[in-house]
Amino acid sequence: MAKKSKNPAETEHSANGLTYPDYRVPPGVGVDLSSVDAGQSEGYTRKKDVLGELETQRRRIQDLQGKLYAENKQGLLIVLQAMDTGGKDGTIKHVFSGVNPQGCRVSSFKAPNPEERNHDFLWRYHKSTPAVGRIGIFNRSHYEDVLVVRVKNLVPEEVWRPRFELINNFEYNLTRSNISVIKFYLHISKDEQKRRLESRLADPEKRWKFSSNDIKERAYWDAYQEAFEETIGETSTEYAPWYVVPANKKWYRNLVIARAIADTLEEIDPKFPPAEEGLENATIPD
Ligand code: ATP
Ligand code: MG
Repeated sequence: MAKKSKNPAETEHSANGLTYPDYRVPPGVGVDLSSVDAGQSEGYTRKKDVLGELETQRRRIQDLQGKLYAENKQGLLIVLQAMDTGGKDGTIKHVFSGVNPQGCRVSSFKAPNPEERNHDFLWRYHKSTPAVGRIGIFNRSHYEDVLVVRVKNLVPEEVWRPRFELINNFEYNLTRSNISVIKFYLHISKDEQKRRLESRLADPEKRWKFSSNDIKERAYWDAYQEAFEETIGETSTEYAPWYVVPANKKWYRNLVIARAIADTLEEIDPKFPPAEEGLENATIPD
């Protein structure tokens, strides 16, 4: 089960209710995103200030993943959600570089296809959850079904609202099956989104990422923020916590997420399985 930050003595509650410096949302606490500074970075000012620690955290993740895989008894599901340009892809690239691909799978979710729409909303996500021994990363997730679906009025409120409880039950079910769940909301400011969209437009190597749909979606900024706030408040639980990660500075975002994942893996505490008995006397024949 995902647990709190490793060293509670170092964890304080900041004014907006998040624990600091891990930015975890305690259960039952509403989150006011407008009060969370997306540009904060613990006093670090430059990328190179954190590169050493980021590397340390990545190594922790790699070592612990090796044990998780060998043990084959517990798994981890990591959910990434954000506004457009929030940095889900960049996080996957930078935090998981060096992780053994054999034990890790990224699942990205777009608008559901007709077959998926003909099933209950969790069906397509459940199929992609990690098995024991594995880490699964959801690039967008079941949370779209209470976010975009709500903001764009794709289903009525009496359909999406009960999903908070269904999602909590789904995640509880996973944790009961030894799959821990942690969820990150990559928090960027509206100004930062503008800068990122402009840079995607201006840079020929980034233009492929630009979608005119991003401009349309930006008009719903406030509605999305409200939907995220309520969603995070309703679904940050003891067993499947949300983290609201300040994400204007990409290097700080990577550090915060890498730390939280490494700490969670450490809580899971995977162990190499015992060796076969009698190996002390084993010799390898010529
Ligand atoms: P991203 O923007 O995450 O980097 P992308 O640019 O590759 O991914 P898009 O097509 O922009 O892909 O994003 C996927 C789209 O699918 C988003 O607009 C998202 O809101 C939508 N989507 C995802 N899940 C659902 C869902 N359950 N119902 C409706 N729309 C969904
Ligand atoms: Mg997109």
